[in-house]
Formats: sequence, structure tokens, C-alpha cells
Amino acid sequence: MTQDLASFAAERGIKYFMISYTDLFSAQRAKLVPAQAIADMQKDGAGFAGFATWLDLTPAHPDLFAIPDASSVIQLPWKKDVAWVAADCVMDDKPVEQAPRVVLKKLVAEAVEHGLRVKTGVEPEFFLISADGEKISDGFDTAEKPCYDQQALMRRYDVIAEICDYMLELGWKPYQNDHEDANGQFEMNWEYDDALQTADKHSFFKFMVKSVAEKHGLRATFMPKPFKGLTGNGCHAHISVWDLEGRVNAFADKDMPFGLSEKGKTFLGGIMKHASALAAITNPTVNSYKRINAPRTVSGATWAPNTVTWTGNNRTHMVRVPGPGRFELRLPDGAVNPYLLQAIIIAAGLSGLKSNADPGPHHDIDMYRDGHLVKDAPRLPLNLLDALRAYEKDEDLQTALGHAFSAAYLKLRHGEWNAYCSQFTAWEHQTTLDV
Ligand code: ADP
Ligand code: MG
Ligand code: MG
Ligand code: MG
Ligand code: MG
Repeated sequence: MTQDLASFAAERGIKYFMISYTDLFSAQRAKLVPAQAIADMQKDGAGFAGFATWLDLTPAHPDLFAIPDASSVIQLPWKKDVAWVAADCVMDDKPVEQAPRVVLKKLVAEAVEHGLRVKTGVEPEFFLISADGEKISDGFDTAEKPCYDQQALMRRYDVIAEICDYMLELGWKPYQNDHEDANGQFEMNWEYDDALQTADKHSFFKFMVKSVAEKHGLRATFMPKPFKGLTGNGCHAHISVWDLEGRVNAFADKDMPFGLSEKGKTFLGGIMKHASALAAITNPTVNSYKRINAPRTVSGATWAPNTVTWTGNNRTHMVRVPGPGRFELRLPDGAVNPYLLQAIIIAAGLSGLKSNADPGPHHDIDMYRDGHLVKDAPRLPLNLLDALRAYEKDEDLQTALGHAFSAAYLKLRHGEWNAYCSQFTAWEHQTTLDV
């Protein structure tokens, strides 16, 4: 649905549009444009100095224009004067190939060429913490097993219900909210949608959760592992593939194990084959690797995977098939870029379909307790550098996401890794002083 943003503003009493794009480090960048100026901006885009954001551009590059995609527009439920609209980056009248939303649109189009429509749901977990970022904001939230804690959930009713009310108002079909497995941690679920729509909603969700938390004097964090010893913030993705009309789920086959069709298994085979490399996208920060491969948390389990294995309805593997016609990738964390998450899933899945990839046997065991019994289970990367190097070696994924994107992404993330390595830590001092 394309719409005229100026009329949209007039109908709804909108005074400003936030023309927003997401850079390679997942920051949302915006210009606030008065409704009187939106007609021209809808055509030409809002101008930015690209170097000032994380897109691997130089100060000498010409202006970057963010062209709003009117079909994504959302009037902010908590500030009706303003509407957010996702934008696509162009420079010299050409798409900026490393811009995450541009990358995703390319992959969505490629799936369409194969007659496929990818539908996904995401579960972006978050913590509500003190405004200074130091501690869990609710001093009573100290249980060893705080998951589904009714009392703690209701102490944050004002924040959670406000966000859920907004999702209801926006027609996202939210269906449940809970306290998660770490103190101060929550999850809110809404219905799956086409990959691009899910990515836009995921971006907007993060903006909305942070905004509402701030309004209540709190801070929301999606950081993968904000507190040592507590369960981290996952961002599981549920995936199914449909015909172009969106009527027939090509992943559903009631005669197959767990109800996952041959096509679903081959798509999954691509995810398994590319797992180490795709971690560079799904687990994009230094901190991400403190969530996966982590020791047991206070609650008894990390709920994050350690190995490239799959199974039925069992949460100790990288991939779970919770029910017929879809699978869940449990690898991504809260730092994942919403657009690149969807892009890498489609890229790896299509690679699986093209090469008829076999996901290997399913291991229906408690991977946390009995993982050692699966002798040949590949381990996930142990740190960001491992993952970046795996991505560097993965020609398939680099081609699918684009070489311009891949070069820019690798350069920026290597820079981050190098900055991390130049830190001197108390641990080094303690363990090396008397060597
Ligand atoms: P769990 O915590 O058990 O992993 P949740 O209920 O928290 O599951 O999240 C499930 C997500 O999967 C939701 O976003 C839901 O809409 C989505 N989902 C359900 N069915 C499908 C499907 N066929 N394809 C893609 N996503 C789906
Ligand atoms: Mg200026
Ligand atoms: Mg969930
Ligand atoms: Mg969860
Ligand atoms: Mg899940």
C-alpha cells in the first residue's frame, strides 16, 4: 500500500514525520520533518552526511538521501503529533548497497524470484533497568528462578500494558507478555508477518520499548548479556516459507517428522551449513559471545545454544521445531540488526534450497546435559573474531548479501573487535601480574 504522506498527515493531525533508517551497527537515525515539507521529502528523501553514521562512508561522499517507504508509516501511539517512517538509503540516485534495509529488500526480491514468500516472527527480549544502566530497576525482583514471576510482572504492569496497548492499537495482534528468565527481563509477542514487515516492526518495537521505558523513568536494554550470571537477551526468529499469495505454507507437511516439510528441511539445511558465518550477523557484538557458549546461569539454564544442532520441541539446541510448518532459530540476540537478521535467514535458507542442503540428524536430547554424546556437533564461534572470519570465508553469504555490504560490515566489525582488544582489563592484571 503506497500512500501520500501529506494526506496521511492531514487526516491524522500529524505535525512531524520521523524519516528513519538503520545503520550497520543497528542505530536508528532520523530527521524530524514538518508535515508541510513531507511531499517533497517523499519524492527526494531527507539528506544526511553518511559519514556521520555507521555505513562506512567518507566525509567526501555526496549526500545520502533517505527515501521514506510510505507503506511502513506508523503514527506514534504515545505522541500522536509524530509519525515514524522507515526509509531506504540512496546516493547519486542509486541504492546504498550496504544499507541494511536495502540489503533485505534485495533478498526478499530474490526469494520472490524463487516463488517464495518468507514469513517470520521475532521475540526480542529486553531488560527494564535503572536509568543509569547499572542495575535491575525493581529491587524486589531477586528470585533465583524469576521466569513467569506473576508478582514481578505486575510491578511493571504500567510499562508492559502501555506497550501492549500500543501494539493492539497498531493492529500487530500481540498475544502474550511475560517476565522472562532473568531478573528484570521481559518478553512481548506479536504475530508473525512478511520478513520486511517484521523487520520494520522489530525496529519500531525497540524504539517504542525504549521510549516508553524512558517515559517511566527507566531504561530498556536489548544488550545480549547485560548482567553476568543472568540469562541474556535472545531474539529468536520463527521462520516459514509460503507461496506468493501467502496461502500455502510450504514448510508444513504432517507426514514428516515434527511436521516440517522437505522444503523446510532443505531451507534449514542452509541455516545449519552457514551457521558459523551467519553468527557474524545474528550475534554481532563482542558481548554476544557471553550469551552463547555461556556457563549455566543462576536460573539453571542459559536458554542459548552452544552447538549447531536441531530438534523438535526442545529449547536446548540452535534450532527447535516447536510445531508443524515452521522452525525457530534460537541463535540471534538482542543486538541483531532487524533488517540483517531477516536478510541472513533468507540468504542462508535460499542457499540451502539451491544446494539441496541436508540439516543432518535431529538430536532429541538435553543438549545442556548430554551434549557431549553428540560427538560431531559443530560448535558455534567462541567470539566475534571467529564469526567474522567464518563470514569472510563464506562466499555464498557474501554474494547473497552483496560484496559492498559484506566489505563494509566486516571492516566496521573488525574495527570494533580491535577496539575491544586494545582494552586493558582487571582480569588480565590479576591473572598475569605474577607470571
Ligand atoms: P516461544 O517462546 O515458544 O519460542 P513465542 O510465542 O514467544 O514462542 O513466539 C513465537 C513467534 O513465532 C511469534 O512471533 C509467532 O507469531 C511466530 N510464528 C508462529 N507461527 C509462525 C509461522 N508459521 N511462521 C513464522 N512465524 C510464526
Ligand atoms: Mg547541516
Ligand atoms: Mg517466546
Ligand atoms: Mg524468551
Ligand atoms: Mg523462542
